[in-house]
Amino acid sequence: MNETNIRLCIPEVSATLLNGAALVAPRDVPGVAHRPPPGSNGLLDALLRGAPPSWAEELEAVTMTAGETLVQTGATPAYVTFPTGGLVSVLVRSGPAANAEVEVAMVGRHDLVGASALLGTDPASHRAVVQVGAPAYRVSAAAIRRLMESCPPARALLLRYVRMSLEEAYQIAACNSRHSLEKRLCRWLLQAHQRLESDTLPFTHDHIAQMLGVRRASVTVALHIIEGERLIRSTRGRVDLLDRARLQNAACDCCGAIAHNRRVLSLDGGLERAAAPSCTPC
Ligand SMILES: [Zn+2]
Repeated sequence: MNETNIRLCIPEVSATLLNGAALVAPRDVPGVAHRPPPGSNGLLDALLRGAPPSWAEELEAVTMTAGETLVQTGATPAYVTFPTGGLVSVLVRSGPAANAEVEVAMVGRHDLVGASALLGTDPASHRAVVQVGAPAYRVSAAAIRRLMESCPPARALLLRYVRMSLEEAYQIAACNSRHSLEKRLCRWLLQAHQRLESDTLPFTHDHIAQMLGVRRASVTVALHIIEGERLIRSTRGRVDLLDRARLQNAACDCCGAIAHNRRVLSLDGGLERAAAPSCTPC
């Protein structure tokens, strides 16, 4: 992981997230952790409800910046990061070319970055890169593995998250091999909307093409088609969703399948309300 790309939140400054998402509270003393405000990250909320109260001291407030690599291919993740907004893409390389990385997962403020670190110290086979920056909380991979060993409710929750991540990756793999570009594009826009909680998506055609693993010209044509149906408006470096209901109808079923999977595993907004049995202090 490139630690130099992460900078700590400046004390006394509360950073407002894109789309009015949660605030990260100022840190009173640099280097001293604080308990994140409820609602910062749905998964982290549930984890903190189940973990011993002192475990919150392991957390560190950071800022994710666009373009920053949080998990590097071939390296053991040093941290697990909980975004409080923004968007992080999980990319897998399909060949030696510079543009050969394809997106296999999107991570938002109900997720974590660095799931492979929950399972051990093996190097990651993927890269996680910040697409839209936001404040976040991170914890060392060693600290979260210690929590999993000592606190069964926390281990159960995090393994449930890993399972959900696998199911999503399987669904996207099927989507990429079976569904038309137009339908995949609609699915991708809806997924980005769900993570960013905004109808305005700050992405260029180039970026979308790279995430979907197709040529830019193909994405431009597909965007023009769905723009002609007044589902979106595409301008330089930005896509506005105009009619989400019709966009869902135009998308393949994968977006709905992923959302259903998250509901079944209580790993979306509902997770914040899920009762996590607490673990006695270890
Ligand atoms: Zn699909």
